[in-house]
Amino acid sequence: KFDEVGGAINKPRHARFEDIGGQDSAIKELQEALQFILRPDEIGKMGIRPIKGILLVGPPGTGKTLLARAAASFTSSVFIAASGSEFIEMYAGIGAKRIRQLFKDARSKASKAKKKSAIIFIDELEILGVKRGSNSSHMEYDQTLNQLLVEMDGICQNEEPRLLLIAATNRSDMLDPALLRPGRFDRQVQVGLPDKHGRAKILNIHTRNKPLDDTLLLEDIARATFGFSGAHLESLANEAAILAMREKSPKIEGRHFEEAIDKVIMGEKMDRKPSS
Ligand code: ATP
Repeated sequence: KFDEVGGAINKPRHARFEDIGGQDSAIKELQEALQFILRPDEIGKMGIRPIKGILLVGPPGTGKTLLARAAASFTSSVFIAASGSEFIEMYAGIGAKRIRQLFKDARSKASKAKKKSAIIFIDELEILGVKRGSNSSHMEYDQTLNQLLVEMDGICQNEEPRLLLIAATNRSDMLDPALLRPGRFDRQVQVGLPDKHGRAKILNIHTRNKPLDDTLLLEDIARATFGFSGAHLESLANEAAILAMREKSPKIEGRHFEEAIDKVIMGEKMDRKPSS
């Protein structure tokens, strides 16, 4: 069975677009695409082909999962999440069976919850959607991908609950071209690293519940964190608070953030070190 709320413990169950910083154009594009769920009659009357799949493309920790969750809240849809790696098995047919189950679960959960729509989120799509016949492919993988294509083609415009597939990847170049054809993942939304204003907004979001010193300017921290993702910035705010608490300082000051920046950068380097 698939996890209705999806994976890791540090990820919130619900997200709203207002809580996502530095992704204004991605949010705009996504909201536009979500009109297909919100206003199906109007779309149908215009003879527009409904969107079945949206691909979020960008580096790790930039908010792709948050965006998918926010899309579910925005459209009041059931949310069901899985990761590409969950479908990769050495035993023939198991991955394909799991894909079938995922779509079945989404339909039945939405019906039980009396929701009009369900959003299926697949993280790390490149793991199961790798180009067929390529080096990293494998016959079992191909079967799993074929099943995903079959399920996407089976999404029907008039069915209720309506289904929308949102997938995330940081390697869209690895994907099998069949996934990107019209009627499948034909909308790609870029979710890049945030710029300085985006970083300030994300820091603002993640320090809302923290006592900041009056002299601290989040813009200064944003300037010093070029290349940080949203996940890095969330971790930075948390580390700065821990450092302040350790010193028994009632407020989080600039120097706590400065020290925490080094910690986050060091942590990133350690994560990248190959294990021996
Ligand atoms: P991955 O590719 O590794 O799955 P992702 O792009 O899906 O990463 P998320 O899982 O959405 O990233 O982000 C992880 C956490 O980082 C979030 O729960 C949130 O705390 C923080 N975060 C990331 N991006 C943003 C953002 N744009 N605004 C606010 N918080 C963010």
